[in-house]
Amino acid sequence: MSSLAVLHASQLVTLAGPKRPRVRSEMSELAIVHDGGMLVHDGVIVAIGSSTEIERSARQSEIVDASGRVVLPGFVDAHAHPVFAGNRLDDFERRARGKTYEQIAAAGGGIWSTVEKTRAASEMDLLNQAKKHANWFLECGTTTVEAKSGYGECRADEYVDLVNEEMLPAVGAERLAEFCDVFCEHGYFDIEQSRKILAAAKRLGLKLRIHADQLTNSGAAQLAAELEATTADHLEKTDEDGFAAMKASGVQPVLLPGSVYALGSTCYPRAREMIEAGLAVVIATDFNPGSSPSPSMPMMLSLACTQMKMSPAEAIAASTINAAYSLDRGDKIGSLEQGKLANFSIFDCEDYREIAYWFGFPQIHSVYVRGRPVLSRANET
Ligand SMILES: [Zn+2]
Repeated sequence: MSSLAVLHASQLVTLAGPKRPRVRSEMSELAIVHDGGMLVHDGVIVAIGSSTEIERSARQSEIVDASGRVVLPGFVDAHAHPVFAGNRLDDFERRARGKTYEQIAAAGGGIWSTVEKTRAASEMDLLNQAKKHANWFLECGTTTVEAKSGYGECRADEYVDLVNEEMLPAVGAERLAEFCDVFCEHGYFDIEQSRKILAAAKRLGLKLRIHADQLTNSGAAQLAAELEATTADHLEKTDEDGFAAMKASGVQPVLLPGSVYALGSTCYPRAREMIEAGLAVVIATDFNPGSSPSPSMPMMLSLACTQMKMSPAEAIAASTINAAYSLDRGDKIGSLEQGKLANFSIFDCEDYREIAYWFGFPQIHSVYVRGRPVLSRANET
């Protein structure tokens, strides 16, 4: 039996608490153990406590001395598009010169360019790209990533038929996915088309997520509530009626500040009102080549605090335990508690708030998945 003892964390940020997503003031309770320690057997956490307590029961264990650094559960990224080929550098430059997302799409740029490159790529190319992106996530302290399968576009009605008649039955039969997601927006998939796809997916036993109200308040948050989707994501344009509908149906909001930032917008989702409405807010990267080319959760925490007026503690709860529950994995990951997987990161700072405070450079010291080191920058400093 392999055994690991983590000792001397300045702050062992456990997020121990109720076995459900955290709401309102619970999002500020990180259950920090000062000079904390953690004992891990075979990749699973068996004890959390003070360093002194853990050291006493750690005789046969390999010791990881955090040396006064912060230890955090691995981030859980609940919204990402990591499988694609190519990039959107031309769009990036067009946008820098003042064109909007819609103008770029109308001029033949936008999502099409990466759709075509992704279609032309071999499976091996896509796998290698995805592995490269997976490493980027680890380098930012993220140990779980939700991966949307890819993307294709043709006339929306034809695509709805293709998805409903061919793709979904195959995905269901081969159990290729847990969730189905639709980009519900004027000019993409409208409410009726989105309802058709999501209702069909639900009949096949898939759970639901929705790209909702990113560019306009289209009623997608209400659709998420009507279909009892697990999450509604983006929500930049959602108002209090949408928040109330989501609350009534237990839909979790997944907020994606990286896409607001990268598109040069200032219209961030109304996170404070959502927290006050009792919604179990999640923060994710929306990593994708077009609107959010960043896998960095620490960058999202910075944006959450500076642009969405969330506290550092709320942002951390939103990117760990709440994110884990939004992926139906709250019993295994998202906090450091007895019985959960030992997925954790050590940050080169003494106070967890520094992770959101300093921005634009890596503070990761090392990353562990199931108790095994998968990344270490320890020798580089
Ligand atoms: Zn997305």
